[in-house]
Amino acid sequence: MAKLYLIIFFFFICLNIFPKEAINIYSARQEVLMRPLIKIFEKNSNIKVNIIAAKANQLISRIEQEGDYTKADILLTTDVGRLYNAKEKNILQKINNIKLNNNIPTQYRDKENFWFGFSLRARIFVYNKQNVDPLNLKGYIDLANSNWLGKVLVRSSNNVYNQSLVSAMIINYGDKKVGAFLENFTKNFARKPSGGDRDQIRAVVAGQGDIALVNSYYFLKMKSQDKENLLTNISEYFPKDNYMKTHVNISGAGIIKNSKNKKNAIKFLEFLSSDVAQKIYAEVNYEYPIRKNIELNNYMSKYNNFTKDKTDLTSLARLNKKSIMLMDIAGWR
Ligand code: FE
Repeated sequence: MAKLYLIIFFFFICLNIFPKEAINIYSARQEVLMRPLIKIFEKNSNIKVNIIAAKANQLISRIEQEGDYTKADILLTTDVGRLYNAKEKNILQKINNIKLNNNIPTQYRDKENFWFGFSLRARIFVYNKQNVDPLNLKGYIDLANSNWLGKVLVRSSNNVYNQSLVSAMIINYGDKKVGAFLENFTKNFARKPSGGDRDQIRAVVAGQGDIALVNSYYFLKMKSQDKENLLTNISEYFPKDNYMKTHVNISGAGIIKNSKNKKNAIKFLEFLSSDVAQKIYAEVNYEYPIRKNIELNNYMSKYNNFTKDKTDLTSLARLNKKSIMLMDIAGWR
């Protein structure tokens, strides 16, 4: 009997001495948003997930500097602009994986499979219903209309969400029209751009302006948790006209070129593309799934009937510098 206890004792000691496998994610996404997903992955795979959180640009530079010695297995971030940048900096590797290829539609991953999109977000208008007739809402380019003088709220131009939107507009409307748009759009600002997307929604609520340009998940989350009914007079509009439908961007990830845990890192990306994870992205984070077959709850399905702009994400990312230049010329700071 004593022998048996000894064996059991050593068994538990061994469990603690030999740690289970782990992956390291350099994440520009908020940890609270990823927690529910990571919890399920860890439980099902027995792989521990370590998160190193910072801004995307900082993480990309850090991985570059760490070179061969990096501990990073995955770069997780939002916006194709940043994923494109990571590929350009040569810190990602090509992954040919059947599950990822099957689960992720081609338009939401890199053509050479250096990065993959796992959730979608739309850049939408949020407006004050008392002051704006939704019948007067059109596409993005109409935000330059003098009807909106002093009424538009938007964050600064140094944010990649706005840069990517302007790039998508260049593809759809052409340089000239976008140049003219920017010049008049900036005249319509209700105030000097400040704060993030959520602050623009709060400013509409506070009556500082009538129409804000924001990412869908910020609004959808605020609306669903609006216990004090602050957003009763606020509604959403998915911009569209004959040239351009609603701009969608991705959140996504890539596997680091010098990853020491490639196999497990791939498992994590496979998980993010699975039905279970896709549902969590929608119902916990208020983003949209990358596939149509994901059944959403009533709340999210209500906001998922819009026409997505089909602009190629890589072409859009390539225009980033040009967009920044045009925004700068127009005085959008
Ligand atoms: Fe965001």
